[in-house]
Amino acid sequence: MKPALVSRMQPYATSIFAEMSILAAETGAINLGQGFPDTDGPEEMKEAARSAITEGRGNQYPPVHGLPELRAAIAEHQERFYGLMVDPATDVVVTTGATEAIQSVILAFCERDDEVVVFEPWFDIYATGIALAGATRVSVPLRPPAFRPDIDALRDAITDRTRLLIVNSPHNPTGVVFTREELQGIADIAIERDLIVLSDEVYEHLWYDGHPHIPIATLPGMAERTITLGSAGKSFSFTGWKVGWATGPTALIQAVRSIRQHLSFVSGGPFQHAIAHGLRMPDSYYETFRHGLQAQRDLFTSGVRGLGFTATESEGTYFLTTDLGPMADYPDALSAARDLPRRAGVVAIPQQALCDHEGVGDQALRWAYCKRPEVLTEALGRLATLGD
Ligand code: PMP
Repeated sequence: MKPALVSRMQPYATSIFAEMSILAAETGAINLGQGFPDTDGPEEMKEAARSAITEGRGNQYPPVHGLPELRAAIAEHQERFYGLMVDPATDVVVTTGATEAIQSVILAFCERDDEVVVFEPWFDIYATGIALAGATRVSVPLRPPAFRPDIDALRDAITDRTRLLIVNSPHNPTGVVFTREELQGIADIAIERDLIVLSDEVYEHLWYDGHPHIPIATLPGMAERTITLGSAGKSFSFTGWKVGWATGPTALIQAVRSIRQHLSFVSGGPFQHAIAHGLRMPDSYYETFRHGLQAQRDLFTSGVRGLGFTATESEGTYFLTTDLGPMADYPDALSAARDLPRRAGVVAIPQQALCDHEGVGDQALRWAYCKRPEVLTEALGRLATLGD
């Protein structure tokens, strides 16, 4: 019998994140692999979700493109933080996490054999979305140790078949935040080659001092060709609620809506009420959130540096990229990461699994530092045994 799974998805049957989480569970290791915080988001948002359930708001299918109140709050958020004007009636769609937004965008715009350009290391959902659509992934390396985007390499990667360019800043897994100049270089190419840009900004509120997040849609000529993504999971530390959104010009959002309605149809009604509340919280919420993570970043970065790892500064996200440090005797990141849980009781993600080219992620580990300080301290204590 031929394999049950269609051939184009076979390379993605198990993700590196699932593999590493299973290893964490088997070994009792501290899981700094999967990127979720170990403290929940604001109590007032939980309360808003609870009262929505109790009062019967959102317990039945909410409107297909998202609760009007949430779409209005998303539009207000885009204007408040970035001066971007989007019409909540036509330019916003609520999705089942940013994940579903990514899949919908790729399926909406890519014909079979169209090319989608991504920066590498890439987020695995881009790879699977491209494969689901039968499109082709073309990756442009962010080279270590700085992992900055190479605009000339990007220009060389564009062909007549390129349809979509995926930009993710703050960038998972490297922690790099693209500068205005870098974004302008990308924008120039998108305009010149008439590309649609998918700007995955789920870490928009997780950038640290000196590295502000700039949505590419704010650059001249970009709003009309950019779909921008956000995630309540990331911005409010409720990754289990799985609510995200896409905003952009009416015609593009209409295409995304056409696909998305046939995927999950709608998502989490009561959560949508709570997220509308969350998006309208004062600036102090966002600042406190950011500064808290910055402190966790600092603790973990100085800790691993002290243990002999070379760390690239994490300018945003909640991920730190390091080399193999005291595990430099392993042939590559994959073999080191597979051994690390048993050897030291900690899990990290080998960035090699998120790359197409050699020499990009072969020596790179991703550590999620969105964990309580005591958990990070315990992980550092365990990592210290690598030197024994
Ligand atoms: N994009 C990036 C870059 C991510 O890291 C993630 C979550 N790991 C997502 C999208 C998906 O977000 P959500 O949980 O809202 O589906």
